[in-house]
Amino acid sequence: MLYHSTRSEHPRVDSAQAVLEGLAPDGGLYMPHALPEFDWQKCLEGSSMDMSEQILSAFLPDIPDMRALVKNAYTGKFETEALTPTVSVGNFGVLELFRGPTSAFKDVALSMLPQLLTAAKNAKGMKRDIMILTATSGDTGKAALEGFHDVPGVGICVFYPQGGVSQVQRAQMVTQEGNNVHVCAVRGNFDDAQTGVKNIFAACREKELPFALSSANSINIGRLAPQIMYYFRSYRDLLDAGKIQMGDRVNFSVPTGNFGDILAGYLAKLLGLPVGTLICASNANNVLTDFIRSGTYDRRRPLLKTASPSMDILVSSNLERLLYLLSGDTALVSRLMGQLNTEGVYTVPEALLEKIQDQFWAAYCDDARAAEIIGRVWREEGYLCDPHTAAGWAAAEDYAAQTGDTRAMVVLSTASPYKFPAAVLSAIGGDTSGSEFAQMARLRALTGVPIPKNLSTLEGREEKHTAVIDKEQMLSYVLSL
Ligand SMILES: *Cc1c(COP(=O)(O)O)cnc(C)c1O
Repeated sequence: MLYHSTRSEHPRVDSAQAVLEGLAPDGGLYMPHALPEFDWQKCLEGSSMDMSEQILSAFLPDIPDMRALVKNAYTGKFETEALTPTVSVGNFGVLELFRGPTSAFKDVALSMLPQLLTAAKNAKGMKRDIMILTATSGDTGKAALEGFHDVPGVGICVFYPQGGVSQVQRAQMVTQEGNNVHVCAVRGNFDDAQTGVKNIFAACREKELPFALSSANSINIGRLAPQIMYYFRSYRDLLDAGKIQMGDRVNFSVPTGNFGDILAGYLAKLLGLPVGTLICASNANNVLTDFIRSGTYDRRRPLLKTASPSMDILVSSNLERLLYLLSGDTALVSRLMGQLNTEGVYTVPEALLEKIQDQFWAAYCDDARAAEIIGRVWREEGYLCDPHTAAGWAAAEDYAAQTGDTRAMVVLSTASPYKFPAAVLSAIGGDTSGSEFAQMARLRALTGVPIPKNLSTLEGREEKHTAVIDKEQMLSYVLSL
C-alpha cells in the first residue's frame, strides 16, 4: 500500500517510510492512496490488542510482526485488559481513554509509536539511531517519555516551558527514568519551545548528526493509526452491554484539539464500522466549530487560555487529512493550506462543506458550562469527569437537543479528573487551596474515586532532570546529547 502527501500524489512511499519520515517533503501529511480492504465485523470479535493488530496491519502492511509490536506496546501498561473501556453514564457511554501509564489519552498512540518507528527503521535497514524531539505544553511530553524510554535505537528529548506546565505535569516529566531520556525546561512560553524545536529541525537538515531527528506529533501516521482501535472497542462494548444491535450506527462526541482523535473515528467509519455522526467538541477556542458550520477556517483570533488546555489550539493539523479524504484533490488541499499559512484563513468549496456536514457536527462550550457539567454529572450520576471530557459531554447534549437524533452516543473521555484537580474540585464545590498534590488528596477524600497510581506516587520522587536553558541554547543542547 502506497502513501503520498495530502498536497501532491507523488512521490509515493511505502508505509514504513511514511512512519519514518513523519511529515511529507512538501509539508503535507502522509495518507494511503487507497484505503485497505477490511473485515470490520471480524475485527470486532477479538480483544483490544487483536483489534489493534488487525487495524495496524491493514494500514501499515510494510511493518512486519505487528502482533509482537502490539504486545510490547500494551501488555501490562494499562489499568484494564480492555485498554480503553466504555462505561455507561446517564444517557451516554463514556469511552475512557485515560487508563494508560500517564493517565492521558495520548498514551494509546504513544505506547505504540515507538514500536512502529523502530520496526520501520529495521524494515528499511536504517543504521543510525533516531532522536525524538518534542516541545510540550504538558501531556504529550510525559506520554512520549513513557513510550520511548529504554527503547533500543531511539532517544527522546522533551522541552517544556519553565513555569508553563502544571506542578503534576512537571513532576511527571522530571522524575522520568530511562537511559535514553532528556527533559529540559526552556525560559519562555510554549510557543518559544515549539519554535525552538522547529528551528532545530531546520538547522539540522544539512548536518551530519550521529542520529536522525524525528517527532512524536500526530502528524505521523504511526501515531494516528493506533487511535482507530478504540472506536471498534467501544462499539463492541455497546454490543456486549446490549445497548445496540450489530449494524446500528453509533455517534461519538470527541473533545478536539489537533483533530487526530476525531479523524481516527472517521477512519474507523471508512473501514466499515457503523459510525453515525462524529461530533467535534471544542472549548472557547472554537475555530473548528465555526469551520464545520460555515466552511471558513479562520485562525486570525487570539488563543484563549481555558480549563481544558489540551484543546487550546488554533491550527488543527489533522484537518488537512480530512480535506484530502473528502475531496481526493491534492491540488485543492495544497492551495487551502497555502492560504492558511499566508492569510490565516480559507474557505472550502460548497460541495466539500456539504460532505463535511454529512459526517460531522460541531459545538463548543466555555469553562463555566464545563464546570456546570462536571458538577451535575457528579451529583446526578456519581461520575467524575475532567474539563476536556466535559466539553465532549456538552457537545453531545447540544447535538441530541438540536437534532433529535436518538442513536447511541459515546463521549470520549481524554483525561483523568486527577490531572486537573483544581478545575474539578471547584466544579464540585470543593476547596481549591494548596498544592496540586493537596488538591488531589482532597478530591479523593471528597469523591472516593481512586487516584491513578502513576499520579499518587509522584510526590517526593527524585527529580532527575533539572536543566533550565534559554531558548537560544536549545540547538547546542541537542547537539551535545
Ligand atoms: C491531545 C488531547 C486532546 C485533543 O486531541 P486531538 O487528537 O489533538 O484532537 C483532547 N484532550 C486531551 C486531554 C488531550 O491530551
